[in-house]
Amino acid sequence: MRLVLLGPPGAGKGTQASAIVEKYKIPHISTGDIFRANIKEGTALGKEAKSYMDKGLLVPDELVVSIVKDRLLKDDCTKGFLLDGFPRTVNQAESLDSELSKMGIELDRVININANAEILIERAVGRRICRECGATYHIKFNPPKVEGVCDKDGGELYQRDDDNESTVSTRINVYMEQTQPLIDYYGDKGLLLDVDGTLEISTVFELITEALDN
Ligand code: ADP
Ligand code: AMP
Ligand code: ZN
Repeated sequence: MRLVLLGPPGAGKGTQASAIVEKYKIPHISTGDIFRANIKEGTALGKEAKSYMDKGLLVPDELVVSIVKDRLLKDDCTKGFLLDGFPRTVNQAESLDSELSKMGIELDRVININANAEILIERAVGRRICRECGATYHIKFNPPKVEGVCDKDGGELYQRDDDNESTVSTRINVYMEQTQPLIDYYGDKGLLLDVDGTLEISTVFELITEALDN
């Protein structure tokens, strides 16, 4: 299965991605995670990406596209993949299309998770992530058993630098201007699956898997 997860920041893409890739045994490709890993390692790519991410802006298309191209050519992608947070511009979507057609493959579904700005801000600001395994929690909606500690491995939970109210607002505006046009782009291709992201985590997952399995 070849999937894309679309949606504004805080909609629940990463949360659903973890469950989807576990069920369908496909690799999870999150461009945001790739940038954060590079920032942690102190690479040149990480330094460049951070300058945009801290402002809530998109990293330039050329950088993102070349990372995804390389990743899609890895062996594990032959069984399918889930792209999370990519593409985010029409230009990225067109580059993805041309790459996939060179590879002789096509996307199966684009899952669009949506929620209103008030919910998105509350979710992103309360998000906490495990330093060890990257698992995502929410201080109110999906809290760990012990505050600040990952249930799975005891890792320390941290808050992303860009998960403050002001940067999240910028990211939502950037989404509306640059990413929202992809809803029509994929709608016109008949690939779009709209899911109400305001529902509970388990309900959103059920809606997605029901649609994918039918
Ligand atoms: P995205 O990857 O779209 O930015 P995340 O999956 O990281 O979003 O979710 C953002 C925050 O909202 C996280 O703290 C997560 O635990 C929480 N969350 C995700 N889905 C839901 C949901 N359906 N209901 C309540 N909280 C949610
Ligand atoms: P995310 O983890 O998906 O919330 O992404 C965090 C940040 O990484 C975004 O605000 C962007 O700065 C950057 N980023 C992630 N994916 C992309 C992409 N496809 N295009 C441009 N920038 C991206
Ligand atoms: Zn963990």
